[in-house]
Amino acid sequence: LAELLGQAPADLRKELEKELPLATSLVNGLPEEELELRKVLAQAAGVAWARWEQAKAESGSLSFDDLIRRAAEAVEANPAYGKRFLHLLVDEVQDTDPLQEALIGALWKAGGGRLFMVGDLKQSIYRFRHAEPALFAARIREAENGRGARYVLLDRSYRMREGLVRFVNGWFGSLWEKELGRHLGVAYEALRGPDDAPWWEKRNGLGTDPVRLLLETQREDPVSGEKEKKPAVRRRLADRLAAEFSSLRGKPCWDKERCLERPLSWKDMAVLVPGRTQYPALRDAFEAAGIPAVFLGSQGFFSRGEVFDLVSLLKALAGPGDGLALAGWLASPFSGLCKEDVLALANGPAPDDSTLSERFRQAFPGAARRFGALRSKALLAGPAAVLDELLNQPEALLAAPGPDRPRMAANLARAATLAREFSAARGPSLAACAESLGSALRRELPAEEPDFFSEDEDVVRVMTVHAAKGLEFPVVAVVGLDDEGRGKNRGTSLIPSVFLTGVSVSLPGEEGSQAQAVLWHRAMEEKALEEEWERLFYVACTRAQDVLVLCGICPVDPEGGEPAPREGTWLSMLERAFPGTLRRGLELPSEPHTGGEPAKARPGLQEAGEEKALPLGGEVPVLASVSATDFALYSFCPRAWRLQKRQGLELHGEAREKPGTGEPGGADLGSLAHRILAEWEFSLESLDRILPETFDGPQLRALLRLSPELRAPARSEADRAFLRSVLAAFLETPAGKELAEAHRKGALRRESSFRLTLGNGPALAGVIDAFWEDQEGIHLVDYKLGDPSGMAEATGLSQLAFYGAVLSRLFPGRRLDLSLVFLKTGERHALPADLADPGQVEARARELARIGVTGPFGQNPRSCPFCPRQRACGASLGHLQ
Ligand code: SF4
Repeated sequence: LAELLGQAPADLRKELEKELPLATSLVNGLPEEELELRKVLAQAAGVAWARWEQAKAESGSLSFDDLIRRAAEAVEANPAYGKRFLHLLVDEVQDTDPLQEALIGALWKAGGGRLFMVGDLKQSIYRFRHAEPALFAARIREAENGRGARYVLLDRSYRMREGLVRFVNGWFGSLWEKELGRHLGVAYEALRGPDDAPWWEKRNGLGTDPVRLLLETQREDPVSGEKEKKPAVRRRLADRLAAEFSSLRGKPCWDKERCLERPLSWKDMAVLVPGRTQYPALRDAFEAAGIPAVFLGSQGFFSRGEVFDLVSLLKALAGPGDGLALAGWLASPFSGLCKEDVLALANGPAPDDSTLSERFRQAFPGAARRFGALRSKALLAGPAAVLDELLNQPEALLAAPGPDRPRMAANLARAATLAREFSAARGPSLAACAESLGSALRRELPAEEPDFFSEDEDVVRVMTVHAAKGLEFPVVAVVGLDDEGRGKNRGTSLIPSVFLTGVSVSLPGEEGSQAQAVLWHRAMEEKALEEEWERLFYVACTRAQDVLVLCGICPVDPEGGEPAPREGTWLSMLERAFPGTLRRGLELPSEPHTGGEPAKARPGLQEAGEEKALPLGGEVPVLASVSATDFALYSFCPRAWRLQKRQGLELHGEAREKPGTGEPGGADLGSLAHRILAEWEFSLESLDRILPETFDGPQLRALLRLSPELRAPARSEADRAFLRSVLAAFLETPAGKELAEAHRKGALRRESSFRLTLGNGPALAGVIDAFWEDQEGIHLVDYKLGDPSGMAEATGLSQLAFYGAVLSRLFPGRRLDLSLVFLKTGERHALPADLADPGQVEARARELARIGVTGPFGQNPRSCPFCPRQRACGASLGHLQ
């Protein structure tokens, strides 16, 4: 039987075992009590339907389906209605539903002319509105059998380059033959390119990879063993995608209209997602990378910064004593003030206990007058009038980054509309409107953002796969390959069902029991949804013309270290079509040989078999930039770099608590120390302002100024006291005094970020803690909170060498004095001369950029004694051997 079906016996056995409960249920029929339940459900559905029909009749309305059904009935009853349509052309026919099919049939019969249908079964993705591909499949079979119809095959793709055509045929062809196309009774028709076109060869020689795979996996906290949260992994993946897009920009793509190569711009790139849950991570990553992007149909209106600013304005106008709201508004780009001035105003000394509002009036009389005028307008004409006024002052947006302005203006207009709707419904109360919008903001209610870009705007488009139907882009990234799709209905007790009206998951009064009808429903409906999910992936992939980037989160089996994609995800489909692809994508060691017979080729899968591996080859990928921390870790040990960067095992070795001492520690506390040192005046008074002993009363403001992740260590009394004592003692050390002196002279520059691109090489990037320049040269300090242990010192010195290489390019000929400063002891460790060769640093950064994506990642046995990852590394070494 397995041979006949073209399956391996083990696979067939597994499949049949899965089907056994369903088969048993079908043979035995439903038990008595479930039959009773089905009767009740059918009656309830009947009552609901009758009530629905009655409600429509009472209000004189027709649903969209009624329009189609009644039109078909009208034509059936009176063919004269259809006679004027002699020839019918139906496009996208794979998405028709039975009602539409009935109307088409009635019109065709009445007109008596020709019916011309165009469609692609592989692209049927509208099941949620009852599209039924089997209808089109039946027409195709009729035409293929020559029953009064002609079948014209359009298999040439003028959209995709050859590598993509092969990729799509490779995975979808086998899937179609084995699963999707079987019950439709229509064979897979492989796509092919126009290989006789004179430009075809040139079109395929772009030099970029046709398919790229970006995979991440959930990391585990090395100390607590806790799994990383999904949003954090999504963000990491989105960051990699942003880097990928940045590196593609300017590379060649094929201009279909003009038949020539041209450079890629942002608007040639699109990100397609199965659902908008992917939007927040993508938005944050693109913003951080400076990539202009529009999110079509985004639900993120109430999480936008400008909406926050406008709500702050309305709150401040409603109650000028609300210092937080006023500060929020003043710090926004709309206020016209510069952020530093606002910070000084909010944090500066207030000896006479004056309020922020009073200080604002004194310091900025012009801006305060404008604010007063806005308040009068808000009180007299309502909140919407104020927002309209801002819209009429385009200069209000000038302080915002250029690419953000159209979005901000569109959101401002949307906020004005919401304020108007609020006033119309609930009166013109400024305070109530501000509170209502503020509450939506706090809860980040999903609300669609307006679309605000023109066709030609040079921005990346981010949209759902459904919204991309009919579109094409030179570069397409499909994000969410780990998504399991819709319609699983897990966790609900009553499931609507097209075939069975509705099914209850369990029997009433018998918690945990399994109703049999659910098995029937899943076999029919969920199978159909799964198949549509697979077709959706086909639609997503075939939007790409030149480059397809596939992104997903792939679980790894903790026991065997194997990629373990969840069933039903696009990742699992890829793995079935191209075995070993996920392993390569995750950069796991190649599959160990387990012995036994090699798998036999299966009938029906020859085409996929030939393709074996996902065509990820082509140009060797390189890292676009190398950071100081990358460089330091790579210098410590290439394998350690890989463990942290690719497998997510943190190597900083900063335990939350220093073992045996109870002394606080951890990466967050180190970050808090750096944050304080970035603005500290090197005095105890200034320390009291930034990190007070307690956060009572006005000191609470200091806490609010910290980013959320730093608030936890700042709130902890033990951490705070520890850090305060370390910094107070540091003031008395020679290093502390030297830094204080440089600060007093106004020479100290802190948290200076840099990005220096090497010719034909990566960009060197990082942030320098502190440096100053005097007659002797450039002095650079890198702070360390931890002890000068082996690893901290080794990586710290490499970081210094990296900064030294950058400074020697930025300040050629100047003497460099580079040192690590250990805050707890005030110790200074200068960069030894043998590490300070800029040429060697650049060569190593180039080496990291070259092998950072593909490896090999060698070991550095000299670092092993200091490495906190010996066990993890040993495990992975063992796995390799
Ligand atoms: S144990 Fe040694 S080889 Fe392994 S990562 Fe650490 S330093 Fe590298």
